[in-house]
Amino acid sequence: MSQTVTDFEVHDIRFPTSEQLDGSDAMNPDPDYSAAYVVLRTDAPDGSDDDGAGIEGHGFCFTIGRGNEVMAAAIDALRPYVVGRPAPRTAADLGALYRELTHDSQLRWLGPEKGVMHMAAGAVVNAAWDLAAKHAGRPVWQFLAEMTPEELVSLVDFRYITDVLTPDEALEILRTAEPGRAERAERLRAEGYPAYTTSPGWLGYADDKLVRLAKEAVADGFTQIKLKVGGDLGDDVRRLSLAREAVGPDIRIAVDANQRWDVADAVEWLTVLAPFDPHWIEEPTSPDDILGHAAVRAGQPVKVATGEHVANRVVFKQLLQAGAVDFVQIDAARVAGVNENLAILLLAAKFGVPVCPHAGGVGLCELVQHLSMFDYVAVSGSWENRVIEYVDHLHEHFADPTVIEGGRYVAPSSPGFSARMLPDSIAAHRYPEGPVWQARRTPEEAN
Ligand SMILES: [Mg+2]
Repeated sequence: MSQTVTDFEVHDIRFPTSEQLDGSDAMNPDPDYSAAYVVLRTDAPDGSDDDGAGIEGHGFCFTIGRGNEVMAAAIDALRPYVVGRPAPRTAADLGALYRELTHDSQLRWLGPEKGVMHMAAGAVVNAAWDLAAKHAGRPVWQFLAEMTPEELVSLVDFRYITDVLTPDEALEILRTAEPGRAERAERLRAEGYPAYTTSPGWLGYADDKLVRLAKEAVADGFTQIKLKVGGDLGDDVRRLSLAREAVGPDIRIAVDANQRWDVADAVEWLTVLAPFDPHWIEEPTSPDDILGHAAVRAGQPVKVATGEHVANRVVFKQLLQAGAVDFVQIDAARVAGVNENLAILLLAAKFGVPVCPHAGGVGLCELVQHLSMFDYVAVSGSWENRVIEYVDHLHEHFADPTVIEGGRYVAPSSPGFSARMLPDSIAAHRYPEGPVWQARRTPEEAN
């Protein structure tokens, strides 16, 4: 019996993280981590209890505060595509929804396939994946990893990428990985997926806090940490030298400039930082500048990573074509959801470039772990040189939070996308009416 999406709720949820400088970097000195959050309600019976509520699909976009209301409005514009229609269940349903949302001829003008409207489509697509995986009784990584190569290929929009990856080539990549799926899924459940942590490295943290957190990260089992750079070269040399001394020569230290530099600045800066052996430089320059990334990569010895702000599969295609990146950093909530990220995983697999996802923010670790785990089981078939970012913030607000053990992500076993935020957390942090924000109103704002 087919079930229907009966309601569509959108929430503007914000956390006052700027008060602790958590998340601060060279371009974003005072982020308030936020989620434009969508809930798809259905009349599908929820097997887990008898409260009569249907299975729900949860999804969101991550923003850093101001503008979250714009993102919420964009998500709301997609309501007619979902409400009153059958709840998506299968690869065919999920492929059709993704295509409809990204090909609406009028909404597409706001991109195309980039920016606020595209991210909104991603939130709804991801909520639909949460719903479908819950219906199947599987975590999303497993739900994906149990699909046939043909079903997986049907999820991808190959428009604009067939010059580099055809459906037949994608099928070949997936069929090659197919025989090892069961063995890798077992290993994943037993060992977890490798992680690295950015918690020590926020630009606003004092030196002693950086050193303490770097040592703690190593004691916790992480083999890679990341430091924000790009504010002041002298400060970066001092902080990187302190971090290197704290963790020793065998721990990888990645650095992240958050788009701060022009190409020549990046080359000059990295030439100075190179003796501290940074594992990669992340977002050295504009995320749209494909040839700029290639020039940074060619002009200095540190490997180049980017992707958290890359708008769509087309730009990832060109970064790979141009030999501009050593690491592809997908983000679960930047492009149009699972479907477009599947295209990017396949492109990276074709080029043999490792995918090391961006995470952190609010809920991004919860989501993206599923994509890397699926990649390991059913696409690239490898976790060599691959790590998922981990930041120890805000997980307590989720019903099925990420679990890290010994520096690795434990494979989720609960059905869905790990996306559900706790009702009390939503109520407390709704902007501007939630009590967390009402308590912060100045006397002028209260009048
Ligand atoms: Mg980054």
